[in-house]
Amino acid sequence: MPIEPAAMESASLRDFRTEVRAFWRQALADFEPAKLAESWMLGSKPLTREVGQQGLIGLTWPKDFGGRELTNAHRYIVWEEALAQGAPINYCMPMDRQTGPMLLRHASARLQASLLPRMVAGDISFCVGMSEPDSGSDLASIRSRAERTHQGWLLNGRKVWTSGAHDADYMVGLFRSEKGSERHKGLSQFVIDMKSPGITVRGIRNLRGLSHFNECVFDNVAVPADALLGAEGEGWKQVSEELAFERSGPERFLSSFVLLREMVDNATADDEAHTERLGHLIAELLSVREMSLGISAMLDAGHSPANAAALVKDLGTTFEQKLPDAAFDMFDVPADDVSTLAVVLRQTALCAPEYSIRGGAREILRGVIAKGLGL
Ligand SMILES: Cc1cc2nc3c(=O)[nH]c(=O)nc-3n(C[C@H](O)[C@H](O)[C@H](O)COP(=O)(O)OP(=O)(O)OC[C@H]3O[C@@H](n4cnc5c(N)ncnc54)[C@H](O)[C@@H]3O)c2cc1C
Repeated sequence: MPIEPAAMESASLRDFRTEVRAFWRQALADFEPAKLAESWMLGSKPLTREVGQQGLIGLTWPKDFGGRELTNAHRYIVWEEALAQGAPINYCMPMDRQTGPMLLRHASARLQASLLPRMVAGDISFCVGMSEPDSGSDLASIRSRAERTHQGWLLNGRKVWTSGAHDADYMVGLFRSEKGSERHKGLSQFVIDMKSPGITVRGIRNLRGLSHFNECVFDNVAVPADALLGAEGEGWKQVSEELAFERSGPERFLSSFVLLREMVDNATADDEAHTERLGHLIAELLSVREMSLGISAMLDAGHSPANAAALVKDLGTTFEQKLPDAAFDMFDVPADDVSTLAVVLRQTALCAPEYSIRGGAREILRGVIAKGLGL
């Protein structure tokens, strides 16, 4: 079951979609169903290079940095098609979605020239160092610190749940750069070379026994002065901007799409209960998708719709999390069943709890939405 082109999609965008769909199909031909069910939580360096060579990373970025100056609608199609096929895009999609745009807005000319073309080529990957052991939802309470030195900055502290840090070449990390500052004040972002002496990365096992995310310890890590991203002390404002990029894309409602496809393929055509259940689910999916496309258009128009993005993430992850329960209701899947449906269903059921935590927990997003509505 392919994802249908959006109603408003022009003929040239539809051609682009056909091309991109064919690329992902051949690139994923050798991936097993259980891996595809992990969807974008998995990353692959060879695949990232292949995606880069195909010109699909940073395609909205300026040509000076290797981009193609295409629209957000093109970008949306690339990742929507990847997700519909379960592509392991954790190393390329977040870089395209948030790290690249952050570097374009805030990095020094030297960092832009050195990093952006390599990101476009898929030669490097980034991780995002925001959360800390006691600071997840309450991110403003972070304690990792950055101290000025004659040459640059010295970083100390601990980040946790850092996706892909074990494979990443760089981190964009949030640190407290003003001694004694509290909450949202005195925070700054840094671009950190993960090979710098003093960084220790340890894998943290998830429910499936895999270590996609990590603990990263910083012990007197020296970074140059221009590793500072944007302005000193403006870290909170910048992180809020970054989270708006992070919260509204197709990855917030398509994480279980491989399972939905299996459900459609295995449904009994003359079983009314199957038809009704799938009809409801697909109607819900299409509504969230329209909202997400609306945000993509707002980003294209230069807006930063943080509240609307939080709403889409909440609705989208609620939808994604419903699918395993619906599949268990619809199909009899004994524990020893090794059919593709059973393998994908079991894997998706174990992945689903993460959906409403990563990128901001559900309760926190609802708080953001309520505040945005003036409540
Ligand atoms: C798969 C995955 C990948 C991740 N990748 C990254 C990454 O790459 N980089 C990174 O920096 N972080 C990453 N995270 C961390 C993620 O951002 C945090 O887990 C998330 O922000 C929640 O923080 P916490 O785990 O500390 O939970 P807590 O903040 O301790 O929250 C626990 C529970 O309490 C609820 N809660 C907390 N405060 C309130 C409140 N005030 N009102 C109501 N309810 C509340 C929360 O909603 C949640 O349900 C990842 C997480 C996951 C699951």
